[in-house]
Amino acid sequence: MRHADVAMYKAKDEGKNKVTFFSSELVEAVEKRQRLLSELRGALEAEELTVVYQPKMCLRTNMIASCEALVRWTKADGTTVSPAEFIPLAEDFGLINLLGYQVLKTVCKQARQWYDAGVLSGPIAVNLSPRQLKEPNFLQQLVDVINEAGVDPTWIELEITENAVMEDVDRALKVMHKINELGVSIAMDDFGTGYSSLSYIRDFPIRTLKIDTTFVSDLPSCSRAVAIAKTVLSLGHGLDLQVVAEGVETQEEAKMLKEMDCDFAQGYYFAKPMPEKDVTDFVREWKAAEI
Ligand code: C2E
Ligand code: CA
Ligand code: CA
Repeated sequence: MRHADVAMYKAKDEGKNKVTFFSSELVEAVEKRQRLLSELRGALEAEELTVVYQPKMCLRTNMIASCEALVRWTKADGTTVSPAEFIPLAEDFGLINLLGYQVLKTVCKQARQWYDAGVLSGPIAVNLSPRQLKEPNFLQQLVDVINEAGVDPTWIELEITENAVMEDVDRALKVMHKINELGVSIAMDDFGTGYSSLSYIRDFPIRTLKIDTTFVSDLPSCSRAVAIAKTVLSLGHGLDLQVVAEGVETQEEAKMLKEMDCDFAQGYYFAKPMPEKDVTDFVREWKAAEI
C-alpha cells in the first residue's frame, strides 16, 4: 500500500489522469525530498539562509546601478542547495512566505547600509514567489519590513514572473497596484518565457522588463534571437519601461545590447552574485567593463 501511495503522489505531481508505476528510485526521491524539506525547515527556523547580490550594470553610464538579491542555502555539512531546488519545495510545503519574509528583511537592512554609504543608485531587486502574491498579509508584511529597516520604499524593487500574475490576474493586479502605491517598484522577470500576454502587460503597473537569458545567450549570431531582443526592447521602451537583459556572459552580447539601446545588463560577464561584504569594494573598484 505504501508503494502504491508513493506512485500515486508521483502521478498527482505530474498532473491529473496520469499512470505511474512504483519503482525503488521513486522512494529514494521521495525520501530525499522529505530529508531536504526537514532540513529546510530547520534552516528557516534558525534563520540560516543567506542572500547574495548580483550587480546590475547601466549600459549607458557603464556604472553599477544596483543589484539583484538571490537567496542561498548552505547546509551544515558545507554543501549548497540551489534555489531552483529549494524554492519549489518551500512553495509546495507552505514555507515560501517565511522564506520570502526573511529575504526581504535581510535585503531591507542591507539597503539601509548601502544607501547610507552611497554605494548604490537604484533599487535592490528582490524575487517574489507567486505564492507570496497570494498571501493575504503580504502587503502588511512588506510595509512592516520597510518601516522596521527605515528604508525608503523606492530602494526596493520586486521581481515577479508573468506566470505568477496570470494565475489570478485580477487579484495580482490589485496587489501590484498596492505595491506601487507604497512606492515599491515592480519588475517583470523572465519576460518572454511565460504567457507574455500583451493585453495584460499594457495594464500592469510595472517599471521594468527583464529579458530572459534564453534570448540573450544567442546574441548576436542568431538573427531570430536578435529580432526577439529588439522587439522586447521596443515594446518596453514604447511602454516607458526600463529594460534589463539577464544572463549576459560575453562581450559580444553586452555590445549588441548596448547598440540596441538596452538600459541595464546583468550577468557573469560583469559580475557573479557575491556576498554582501564584497559589494561595496566591487562597486568602488569597478572599472567600466569593456563593451
Ligand atoms: P532568476 O530570478 O531568473 O535569477 C537569475 C539566475 O541566473 C540566478 O540563479 C543567477 O545566479 C543566475 N545568473 C546570473 N547571471 C548569469 C549568467 O551570466 N549566466 C548564467 N548561466 N546564470 C546567471 P540562482 O541564484 O540560482 O536563482 C535561480 C532562481 O531561483 C532565480 O531565477 C529565482 O527565480 C529563484 N530565486 C532566487 N532567489 C530567490 C528569492 O529570494 N526568492 C524567490 N522567491 N525566488 C528566488
Ligand atoms: Ca529575478
Ligand atoms: Ca530572471
